[in-house]
Amino acid sequence: MDATLARDWMRAAAAAVAADTDRLTRLDAAIGDGDHGVNLNRGFTAVVAALEQAPPQTVSEVLVKAGVTLMSRVGGASGPLYGSALRAAGKALPPTAEVRPSELVVALRAGLEAVRGLGGAAPGDKTLVDAYGPAVDAFEQAVAAGADLAGAAAAAAGAAEAGAEATVPLQARKGRASYLGERSVGHRDPGATSTSLMFKALSQVA
Ligand code: ADP
Ligand code: MG
Ligand code: MG
Repeated sequence: MDATLARDWMRAAAAAVAADTDRLTRLDAAIGDGDHGVNLNRGFTAVVAALEQAPPQTVSEVLVKAGVTLMSRVGGASGPLYGSALRAAGKALPPTAEVRPSELVVALRAGLEAVRGLGGAAPGDKTLVDAYGPAVDAFEQAVAAGADLAGAAAAAAGAAEAGAEATVPLQARKGRASYLGERSVGHRDPGATSTSLMFKALSQVA
């Protein structure tokens, strides 16, 4: 991956969020406060603008800039969580023009650790961790098996979507949805759903 591909990824993520804003908002209206689609759409619109205004020359800088932008533009849980994930992923990468899939494994895992450190969610708590965790595992396994970026991203996208769908029967233990207790059961987590969009976007450009 180079900086151009990383920017393409962020643009594809922004387009996916824009196309699914209403769906994300509906999911969040069922078990939260109905702003997830709007939050992320505002954030990723700002990310695309920031990257176009002064295009970074390394993947590391693209992800750090995207993360910092999300942290400053999005209120609610998802801004700090998505923002710190992207920033931590960027900081974990070498400052080279091109990064290898194995280096992206380390970066994606650093992003997951940032989310878990900030939000304290464990697997099964019905949060975006339930999509992000399986996606990183699948990406890592694919790279270990010799896959290129496109192959690893496709594996990660499949695992993220499966992880998001698997949040339906779970009871939320973190975030606003946890206030509902058992009434959160039977609904798909909005953050896990948007995380699936992120990995799908990566697999589309890779
Ligand atoms: P808010 O809940 O503040 O309105 P959003 O609606 O933008 O923020 O985002 C909600 C999503 O954030 C949830 O669906 C969940 O996936 C994720 N989330 C909330 N709290 C946590 C947490 N502590 N750890 C990980 N993810 C979380
Ligand atoms: Mg919300
Ligand atoms: Mg909110």
